[in-house]
Amino acid sequence: MDIRLYNTLTREKQVFSPQNPQRVTMYVCGPTVYSYAHIGNARPPVAFDVLFRLLRRIYGEDHVVYAANITDIDDRIITASAETGRPIAEITALYERVYREDMAALGVIEPTFRPHATEHIDGMVAIIEQLIAKGHAYQGKDGVLFHVPSMADYGKLSRQPRDEIVAGARVEVDAGKRDPADFALWKAAKPGEPREARWPSPFGEGRPGWHVECSAMAKAVLGETLDIHAGGLDLIFPHHENEIAQSECAHGKPMARYWLHNGFLSIDAEKMSKSIGNVKLVHDLLKHYDGETMRFALMSAHYRQPLDWTEALLTQSKATLDRLYTALRRMKDVDADDVDAPKAVLAALCDDLNTPQALAKLSALATEANKSPERDWPRLKGEMLAAGRLLGLLQRDPDDWARGDASEAQRIDAMVAARVAARRAKDFAEADRIRKELAAEGVEIMDGPDGSTWRKA
Ligand code: AMP
Ligand code: ZN
Repeated sequence: MDIRLYNTLTREKQVFSPQNPQRVTMYVCGPTVYSYAHIGNARPPVAFDVLFRLLRRIYGEDHVVYAANITDIDDRIITASAETGRPIAEITALYERVYREDMAALGVIEPTFRPHATEHIDGMVAIIEQLIAKGHAYQGKDGVLFHVPSMADYGKLSRQPRDEIVAGARVEVDAGKRDPADFALWKAAKPGEPREARWPSPFGEGRPGWHVECSAMAKAVLGETLDIHAGGLDLIFPHHENEIAQSECAHGKPMARYWLHNGFLSIDAEKMSKSIGNVKLVHDLLKHYDGETMRFALMSAHYRQPLDWTEALLTQSKATLDRLYTALRRMKDVDADDVDAPKAVLAALCDDLNTPQALAKLSALATEANKSPERDWPRLKGEMLAAGRLLGLLQRDPDDWARGDASEAQRIDAMVAARVAARRAKDFAEADRIRKELAAEGVEIMDGPDGSTWRKA
């Protein structure tokens, strides 16, 4: 079965054909580990985890090589270190660990490689040297810059007009730019910056620009031309455009053949942002929702479409999973046939990762199982489990899933009890905080003469 993927580079859905079916390569830009990941950050790892699973199913487990990097040096990390007084390595180690735990809770398989930027400085320096030697880069006042007009087809991924390109590059180091669109490859160390944030190089002490980190890591672990390169929509410009510029001018070959981008996640129809105060961290959400429910919610929209994260979406996702696990629970005493995922589920995923359709087919299987005589159960159970494996769902003991409900109630009971205790201690701020936290998940507390009870809206 052919996989068809929408390629941002060509603006069309194309049949996917890897350079070498024995070694299919995929690179997804990973997190900058200076803080907790929010639920929007989880969208690319989950969407492209589905692709990783599908590629492994089509080409074989050992024939797909997937790299998702960790950006462990960057301005935001330096700022976090300066603000907290903690060493950079401590901050990045902590948030990388949390990130990996969060992603595992969302059913994300560990990529084949997790390159760290700080382990590939030599590769970055090598690319910059090549770019200078070929006339694509030059030493500016504050480091080395890529000279955008030196690349004839610069801008081919984002297809932006020149003024947008210039506006996008405005935030980059300005000193000594030959062209306003030029961007930083190497940033000279500034006085007062920590030792941990500077490396020696032929261009002086400093650190790499963010874009060149990915060019070097992708090359080091996967090669000069990747099959698939992916990330969120916001990375098309400038990040991916600049990765293309660096890698293609340095190596003289295409950086990647298929460029995939996921759409943005909003919260209750609003952009997620610190200024609005609606940023939802994966780490916090996991205290309230099961990781599998969150994964289901993330897959409920097509990856290229916007996804609005709401309480209703989570409730609906949980209800559907309940129904699927209930069907599996009814069949728990039969041995599942060792079958492949049904064609309809595979076909949906092969069509540019149509997860909503794949999930609908999975639901249809549960409906069928509920209506079918017992003799059909081994096949239906096998098909549900195989489809679930492909989607990263339904791999738990259905009894455990059902017990999850009980533990949720216990958790809410405990929070209600903590609020009662806070009120007794006259810590009304804490009591109010707990009430608000419960209200946010749709739990209403009812205070009566005999104590407090709760109900779910
Ligand atoms: P960052 O750590 O900011 O570099 O982001 C990591 C990844 O999350 C990138 O691929 C971004 O495109 C993606 N991303 C950030 N915010 C959102 C969002 N609201 N919806 C979907 N993807 C996002
Ligand atoms: Zn990248």
